[in-house]
Amino acid sequence: MTTLAFLGLGAMGDPMAAHLAPHARAHGHRVLVWNRTAAKAEAHARAHGTQAATLEEVAAADVIFTCLPTSAEVDEVMGRMRPHLRSGATWVDCTSGHPDAATRQAAELAARGVTFLDAPVSGGTVGAQQGRLTVMVGGDAAALETARPHLAFAGKVVHVGGTGAGFAVKAVNNALLGVTLWATGEGLAVLGRAGVNLGAALDVINASSGRSNASENLIPQRVLTREFPATFALGLLAKDAGIAVDLTQSVQGSAPVLAQVAALLRGAQRAVGAQEDHTAALKLIETMNGTELR
Ligand code: NDP
Repeated sequence: MTTLAFLGLGAMGDPMAAHLAPHARAHGHRVLVWNRTAAKAEAHARAHGTQAATLEEVAAADVIFTCLPTSAEVDEVMGRMRPHLRSGATWVDCTSGHPDAATRQAAELAARGVTFLDAPVSGGTVGAQQGRLTVMVGGDAAALETARPHLAFAGKVVHVGGTGAGFAVKAVNNALLGVTLWATGEGLAVLGRAGVNLGAALDVINASSGRSNASENLIPQRVLTREFPATFALGLLAKDAGIAVDLTQSVQGSAPVLAQVAALLRGAQRAVGAQEDHTAALKLIETMNGTELR
C-alpha cells in the first residue's frame, strides 16, 4: 500500500489534501495529514476520510507533500522528520519556496535516499478547491513521473527544469502578478482623480490591451467591492516578489521593474498588514492619491 502524506493544511493545503483522499480510495492508497495546529488535521480527517498523524508517522510515507508559507518552515519540519524518512520516498514541496533552499534541501534529502521536487502551484484557493491547480515542477524528471499520478489537485503539470526551477518560475509569475496588480491600481487611481467612473474604465481596459487577471478579476471582484477577501496574504506575495529579486541577483540579471514592485509590496505589507489579502496592497495607492478605488 502506498502512503501519501500532506503537511500544512492552510488555505491551499487543506483543499489540496482533500483531493488526495478520493484518489487514494480509488487506488488502495492511504493519506496521512499533519498540521502544526493539530485540530485542523483532525477536522480534515473527519471531513475527508484522511488520517491525522504525527510528524514521525508522516516522515515514513512514500510520497510527502508540503505546503507551508516559506522554505524556512519546510526546513523546520524537514529537520524534525529527517531521522524517520524512508529511503526511496519522494518529497513534493508545493510551498512557493526559494530556489537556493531547494538546492540545499534536495542535497540533504538525497543523502537519505529521498528525492526532492520543488512543485509550487498557482490557481489560488478556488483552483485548489476545484482540483485545477497549475503545478510547475523542478527536479528529476523520473521522480516527477513517480509523483505525477498522485497530483490529484492539478489541472496542469509542467516540468520546468532542474531543482529550483519550479520555485524560480513561481517567483517570477507572482512578481508579474504584483506588477499588473500594482500598475492597474495606479492607473485606476489616476482615472478616479480625473473623475472617470472606474467600472466603465475597467470595462474598456478589459476589452483592450491593458487587461490582465488583475483588471479582469482581482480588482473588480475584490477592490471595487471593498471586500478584500483574505485568500492569499499580502505578506506571501511580497515574499514571492522578494524571491524574484534574489533570483535576479543570483543570475546577475537586470530586472528593475520587478525590484521596484517587490519594494512597493514590502512597503504595502508594512502599511496595510501582512495578513490582509494581497489586493489590499492597493490601499497604499489610495493613500498616495487621496482617493478610494470604488
Ligand atoms: P496559510 O497561511 O493559509 O497556511 C499556512 C500553513 O502553514 C498552515 O497549515 C500553518 O499551520 C502552516 N505553518 C505556518 N508556520 C508553520 C511552522 N512554523 N511550522 C509548521 N507549519 C507551519 O498559507 P497558504 O495556504 O495561503 O499558502 C501556503 C503556500 O502556498 C505559500 O508558500 C503561498 O505563497 C503559496 N500559495 C498560496 C496561494 C493562495 O492563494 N493562498 C496560491 C498559490 C500559492 P497552522 O494551521 O498551525 O497555522
